[in-house]
Amino acid sequence: MAAQRSSKFLTTILLLGGAAPLGYPYWPFNFNGFSICDTCGVTRSRRERQLPLLDTTWRTTHGSEHDTPLSRLLQEFDRVPQHEHTWQFVRGAGNGTQCAIGRGQYLYETAQDERIVEFLRFLKKRESSEYLDSWISFALDHRTTLRCRSMMWRLERYPDREQAWWNERRSMDESREEAAQEAARYPRY
Ligand SMILES: [Zn+2]
Repeated sequence: MAAQRSSKFLTTILLLGGAAPLGYPYWPFNFNGFSICDTCGVTRSRRERQLPLLDTTWRTTHGSEHDTPLSRLLQEFDRVPQHEHTWQFVRGAGNGTQCAIGRGQYLYETAQDERIVEFLRFLKKRESSEYLDSWISFALDHRTTLRCRSMMWRLERYPDREQAWWNERRSMDESREEAAQEAARYPRY
């Protein structure tokens, strides 16, 4: 009985596999997710057509790209170099997977965070472009982006941004350098 069942299962898979190239837009066993580029902050969805309940992908298609508050700011600042997107998986689900999380998750949260956007705007007005770049790199690196975002609360304690920066800049610089050194021990990709 067991052998019969498994041969039926195999036949079904082979039939589905044979029909797949023709019917892939209607294929029901999909893993859907999205990624973020850690150079420019845009996101892109992707759909993986898989075998039923197996994480074997036979075709991957990508959706269009979408801006985030951070990617729009980088474009406005003219801080997006010519580049091939470097996608970091954020999260996805489907075909038996409830929720898969990737290393782009924290970066995605940073890219949506208006406090980061406002902070970088402040630095643009107040500091040199090299200094601004060091914070942009810090925010875009998936190894340090959580640390970057968690520092924003320090500035929120003050009613005035100038006063906040005057008081907090030194310790925030120290934390940033410390986190960057720690991250350098691990590969980025
Ligand atoms: Zn990009």
